[in-house]
Amino acid sequence: MGTAQPSPLEYLSCLAGEVSLNDLLGGETMAYKITDACIACGVCKDECPVNCISEGDIYVIDEAVCIDCDACAGVCPVDACVSA
Ligand code: SF4
Ligand code: SF4
Repeated sequence: MGTAQPSPLEYLSCLAGEVSLNDLLGGETMAYKITDACIACGVCKDECPVNCISEGDIYVIDEAVCIDCDACAGVCPVDACVSA
């Protein structure tokens, strides 16, 4: 028995942001994500120690860089930063 390899379609889903690389590869690390509740206030971006939060209509966390520190969740006024 070997480890199943992700299909090309699954990789495309990952690139499209539908699936995190960690999830795809069965990694052990968790990452935070930002939900649709985000009001784009920008507070979390300033708190992130690894600068992995990007501006947008709603803000977005780069899950490949996030170190799961919880700083963003602690400052978000609408609890939109959640452990993925
Ligand atoms: S959990 Fe920490 S590292 Fe991850 S996005 Fe939030 S502030 Fe940044
Ligand atoms: S702190 Fe919360 S509401 Fe503000 S930009 Fe970040 S995720 Fe969105």
